[in-house]
Amino acid sequence: MSEATSSQRKEVDALYAESQEWKINTGEETIHAKRMPGAFRRLKWIAASSWLLFFFGPYLRWNGRQAVLFDIPGRQYHIFEITILPQDVWMLSLVLLFFAIMLAVVTTLFGRVYCGFFCFQTIWVDIFTWLEEKLEGSPAKRKKLDKASWNVDKIVVKLKKHLLWILVSMFTGVSFVAWFTDVYQLWIDYFTLTASSTEWSVLALFTVGTYIMAGVLREQTCFWLCPYARIQAVMLDRESMIPTYDYNRGEPRGRLKKGETVEGNGDCIDCNQCVAVCPTGVDIRHGLDEGCITCALCIDACNSVMDKIDKPHGLIRYESVDALEGKPVLPLMKRPRVLVYLVIMTLSFVGIIYGLLNITGLEIKVLHERQPLFVQLSNGSIQNKYELKILNKTNEQMTVRVTAEGLEGVELVGAEEPFVSPPGKVAPYTVYLRLPRRAMKESSMPVYFKLEGVEKPELNSKYESMFLGPR
Ligand code: SF4
Ligand code: SF4
Repeated sequence: MSEATSSQRKEVDALYAESQEWKINTGEETIHAKRMPGAFRRLKWIAASSWLLFFFGPYLRWNGRQAVLFDIPGRQYHIFEITILPQDVWMLSLVLLFFAIMLAVVTTLFGRVYCGFFCFQTIWVDIFTWLEEKLEGSPAKRKKLDKASWNVDKIVVKLKKHLLWILVSMFTGVSFVAWFTDVYQLWIDYFTLTASSTEWSVLALFTVGTYIMAGVLREQTCFWLCPYARIQAVMLDRESMIPTYDYNRGEPRGRLKKGETVEGNGDCIDCNQCVAVCPTGVDIRHGLDEGCITCALCIDACNSVMDKIDKPHGLIRYESVDALEGKPVLPLMKRPRVLVYLVIMTLSFVGIIYGLLNITGLEIKVLHERQPLFVQLSNGSIQNKYELKILNKTNEQMTVRVTAEGLEGVELVGAEEPFVSPPGKVAPYTVYLRLPRRAMKESSMPVYFKLEGVEKPELNSKYESMFLGPR
């Protein structure tokens, strides 16, 4: 620091003045974390935006319908481009398995990344504290306000804040209910007091839940209520790369003295900025803490301090305990746990891709009539009866054509004209196959029903059935 400019020195002095404000979270006081720009803060906003885009999806239109709609009575689930029908639910199980294992892999490798960047609770707390900062000012001012005795100004500002929080909570509740019904009709129903009792109950539950969890409890939810904080202990190992303070480089920590180079001190200047920005009030210099949600904001804070004292970044960085202790670290692909997770993830991923490739807008299933299996007509030909179940997964009514293939001389009766298939529904149709007696080479022969959209032949499906006759 001997070559530090006077402006850098002033910045460091300002940090020390501010550091008197910060102390470790014991749950007695509300945490008012400082917001600082940085690479991980940017990443956090990007991650939050994608989650918010999904959560508020009901307000967007996609292909002429609500972008996110879980239409339970209609048994259709729309998520932007994807429409899932009950027949495709097996794929949803694979998607859930894939994400569950991915969560385990990411936690093993990089700690609670989900908590720090994607968790509903973390994102809403971020929104609530952002509003709080706009109304009550910087963390230092908020702490002062919390300690000040009640007067008119304090009551007004606190009332405004809580009112705003309740409005955000209500908006969250309505938006969640809108996942299951038409969003614009829902708002009308709420405003005209004609919403159903279920809609009112879910709205009340979500409003109260969001207000308490994100506004009142905040980081205490991560400390005391979230089971994932406890589960992560068995997922992490000494090779997990998590935000870590490099004590080799930082210790012995010591405050910079004006105009002096402090010989023998480490790089940590004990400015407490890493504690100041921590949304859960953890001091990462004490080692891994179950309150740490791996948001990496302390990395941003410490890097900015290192800039001020002309030291390289990375005093706090993503690092493993073993690497910090100078022990050899196994490459990723040699860790048994990572390999097992990867195998399960690959299998479920292959299943999902298979499902996506085979999902088509049209699907046909064929049931062969059992009573009787066949009849012989007066002209000697053999007739089989079938029930076709045609599923139209698209959002529009379609004209579809059914043909039969694979049997020479077979005649399809009942499907001479194209069928009109309603959107998002399974519709049954009865058809007959007739085959001249002399074409019956065996008592049971395969036959294929082919379904094709008249205007959209690229939407098609095939089903193998049997044609039965006398021995
Ligand atoms: S680790 Fe970095 S941010 Fe934290 S007190 Fe030390 S120098 Fe300051
Ligand atoms: S210690 Fe660092 S990584 Fe952990 S929660 Fe606090 S700021 Fe985020």
